[in-house]
Formats: sequence, structure tokens, C-alpha cells
Amino acid sequence: MARRLDGAGASLLAAPTVLGLYLHIPFCDAICNYCNFNRGLFDAGLKRRYLDALSLEIASYEDAGRVDSVFFGGGTPSVLEPSDVSGLIARCRSSFDVDPAAEITLEMNPETASRERLDGYRAAGVTRLSLGVQSFRDEELRRLGRLHTADRAIEAFGLARAAGFDDISIDLMAWLPAQTVPHWIESVETLVDLGPDHASLYLLELYPNAPLKEEMARGGWSQAPDDTAAEMYHAGLDRLGAAGYRQYEISNVARPGRRSRHNLKYWSDGAWVGFGCGAHSTRDGRRWHNVSETGRYIDRVSGGTSPVASCRTLSAEERLTDMLFLGLHLSEGIDLTAIERRYDVNVWARWGCELAPFVEGGVLAREGNRLRLTRDGMLLANEVMRVFV
Ligand code: SF4
Repeated sequence: MARRLDGAGASLLAAPTVLGLYLHIPFCDAICNYCNFNRGLFDAGLKRRYLDALSLEIASYEDAGRVDSVFFGGGTPSVLEPSDVSGLIARCRSSFDVDPAAEITLEMNPETASRERLDGYRAAGVTRLSLGVQSFRDEELRRLGRLHTADRAIEAFGLARAAGFDDISIDLMAWLPAQTVPHWIESVETLVDLGPDHASLYLLELYPNAPLKEEMARGGWSQAPDDTAAEMYHAGLDRLGAAGYRQYEISNVARPGRRSRHNLKYWSDGAWVGFGCGAHSTRDGRRWHNVSETGRYIDRVSGGTSPVASCRTLSAEERLTDMLFLGLHLSEGIDLTAIERRYDVNVWARWGCELAPFVEGGVLAREGNRLRLTRDGMLLANEVMRVFV
């Protein structure tokens, strides 16, 4: 499709002047026991006031520009009615120059899917769904406190296809409590059988006070050793590769032409503006984020005060290290020549001594003007990236 970024000859360096918009929807029908995102329980009255504030914040944004992606993230954006989503998209279109063929993604939890709702999202202008499946095994979903079952996730995918969505991503999580490699591969196989256009594979990370930790102690479940997590990562990517998916980022694979335009902006020195509580933005060398608490956000915006909690101008050094840090997430890595042209810095001359051992150890690969993490290196990305910070 012509509107994709990754067509033949397209550069991974997104044009900084074309924006992505991120809209944060902080509501969920239940709180999962491993989640530390900015979210809370759904409340109809709060939702109404929040959407009014969100719409007002978008309308009040000065210096609007061209936009080629809009992303509804959360929380659970699919708790919104199609009319809510339609109103927000219309607000984006009236405030920004949104490409008629923009990628408009909505994150959906399987338990919220119905044909009527999906038809409504399509009619509202949503072009892409990101389904938060996490596992196709019921006992794993129960341990995570998820509301859906494996069958419900499969049904949701079928309903989305029947509603005409031809660009669907599925999220899966590995390294779950008591999960074995065969269990994990069973979920990956089910995903492959469904045939989404894109998939995101994450390893479960337990934050210090996650309620899941207590449940794991009570249930006698544990996560497999680190080596097994690495085995899960490789086995999942191998299976997806054999099924025709191409890895383009540490955690993301896609069919040809189906990479996420919006998410590519995060890794390729792009620009985006976030709206809603806790939303982050990066544009023209500045970075800012909104207050994270929902009520405070609503009060600020509806009271005519900016919701921005902090804003700063990045130094040239910070922009460069961000570009290196984020660009190395991509399978294609970074273009050392393009970076030298843009930032007047020879990466190898500056950091070669620290990077060379990673190349010798097979963690990084240097090929012509490109530097990239190897598949093994992707599991050690944080160690490599510490070189730049
Ligand atoms: S549905 Fe998603 S955002 Fe909401 S609590 Fe669960 S993991 Fe967190």
C-alpha cells in the first residue's frame, strides 16, 4: 500500500515535520496484576469529562502541522464508544492537517470486541487495530488477571477481519509465570494460524510492587530462568520468521508493508505530539509531558491552564544520543553516514573503543555504514545503549 513507510526505497529516517498524534485513554474495565501503565477503572462520568478535556487540549494546540499517524493508546481505548472515537478523530482533523490516508490505530482488548463496535470504529476512520491478546492459553490469562479467554481473543480477531480491518496487530507476552517454552510456542502457533499483519512480542517485566508477585508467591509459580526467556524470544521470532513475518524492531515483526508507521516515529528520530493525561511529546528538539493524574489533567485543561508538567529543550548531544539509543532498537540499526551528516559526529571515532568489544562478541554488527544489534544482541540492548548515556 502506498501509504506505508517501509515501501521500496523509503528511508527509515521519518521526516521530522510530519507528525504522529498520540491520544491517551486511561480507562480499563479491570486492572491487570502486572500493569504499571497510567490507567484507572472505567467511570462513565469521568470518561465524559476526560473526553471534553482531551478534545479541548487538541483544539488548543498551537503550531499544528501535517500528520500521517494517529494512535489511541491506553489504558483500554476500546472502552470508548465509536462515537467517542469519531469525535476525537474529527477534532484531530479539524486542528491538524491529517493525511486522508493516515494510519489511525486503536488498541483493543478482546473482551470489548463486538461486530457493531468494530463496524463503528471502521466508520469512525480507524484503519488499524492492536489487539492486546498476551496469551492464547486460558490459565496464563487467568494468572495475569485478564478478562478474556483464548477463544474470546480468537473470536475478536475474526470479528475484526469480518468488519474489514486489513491491518491488525496482536500483542503476546512471553516469560509468564509457570510458562514453558512449549506453552509459549503454542500461543505463537495460534497467532500464526490467525495470520495478523503485525505482532509485538514482549517479555513480562515485573515491577517491584506488582500484585502479580504476591499471587506468584501464593500460587507457587515462578518465571523460568533467564536462559529460557532468551530461548522463548528466539523460538518465537524463528517461528514468525518461518511464517513470513519480518522482524523490524526488538519486539516487533510485520508482514511486508505492515510495519507500524506511528511506532516507527519513536525509533527513527520522528516527531509526535501526545494528548491526554501523562502523554509525552517530542518535536523540534523539545520534549514535554502532561500531568499524569486524570482528575488533575481534566481540572487543568477545563480551567484554561496548560496540562504540561514539564518541558525542556534537548541539547544537540541529547538529540544525538537519543537517536542512537532509539535507532538501535530497529533491526536495520542506524545509518552512520546519515548521522554524521545530520549531527556532524562520527559515531565510530567517538565511541568506537567502547563499541568494538560488542562487535567482537557478536552483539553488534557493523556492515558498511550501518551499525545494528544482532538477534542475540537484542537481548543485551540495554548494555550496549549504556555506551551512549
Ligand atoms: S488492560 Fe492494559 S492498561 Fe489496562 S490494566 Fe490491563 S495491561 Fe494495564
